[in-house]
Amino acid sequence: MKRITSAQLCSQLKNLGINNGDVVYVKADLLSIGIIEGDVRSGLLNALLAVVGETGTIITAAYTKTFFFPMFNKNRKFFSAASTPNTGSLAKLMLKHPASIRSKHPTNSYVAIGPASSQLLSNHDHTSSSFEPLRQVMRLKGKCVIIGCIDSSPGHTTTHLAQHDLGYASQNIFKGLVGATFSLDGETKVFLRKDFGGHNLGARKIYSTYLDKGVIRTSEVGNTTGLMSIAQDAYDIDIDLLKKDKKLILCSSPTCFSCRVCWKYNILDIPKYISAKLIQKFILMLKAIS
Ligand SMILES: [Zn+2]
Repeated sequence: MKRITSAQLCSQLKNLGINNGDVVYVKADLLSIGIIEGDVRSGLLNALLAVVGETGTIITAAYTKTFFFPMFNKNRKFFSAASTPNTGSLAKLMLKHPASIRSKHPTNSYVAIGPASSQLLSNHDHTSSSFEPLRQVMRLKGKCVIIGCIDSSPGHTTTHLAQHDLGYASQNIFKGLVGATFSLDGETKVFLRKDFGGHNLGARKIYSTYLDKGVIRTSEVGNTTGLMSIAQDAYDIDIDLLKKDKKLILCSSPTCFSCRVCWKYNILDIPKYISAKLIQKFILMLKAIS
């Protein structure tokens, strides 16, 4: 794995299309970038902050655990600004930054650093949709960047916002059954999720249209590839495609519980899922015997 300097990384991020003053929503796999000389741990974050400068803002998802029946064992299912995110190292690093701001949504909070942070996050709480900060990114003519996780976490999250805006995100069978608890005016409240993005691997299917419409820009970033789109351009394509086919976002795995079982508009896949799981178990049984 080749080493990279901070200056080279900044140059590659600029080549990707990130400019001074930009608002940038970032998803990144830090390990995939490789070793950043002199700044191994925070190299990408510092490079992003250097490229957008004092007038730019970086934002990422800092989602936390969603619990079944949060009205029971409330203390164990509590979200606070200190809760550890499950969205990777970039979110954890940003939360430790002294200038970071985190939104108050009890399961799908976001963290941002920069002068637009309050505008992006101040209204994102238990009353708003999970993916609302992406709308604010669009309003500020922001960009969406994916670095090193195009296969494991495709999609700009604008797709989830589009699912919400088209009324699909609320058609999940776990609506009202899962959530977390949080503090409001000194009292512990129960938050029940109403909107879901679901399994995001299906977002790969949208890339071909992004490419056809020319809304994706790519560049080498360390040892991996970065991908950048203007958030509004990506969202417009998401909305257009999902209007025509609400199942487009679902992956094609016959044994994916999230995509085959969890959506009210896809109940026809449930028998296929049960058959596929039974066959899978039968094959495992045969392997255990042989
Ligand atoms: Zn799936």
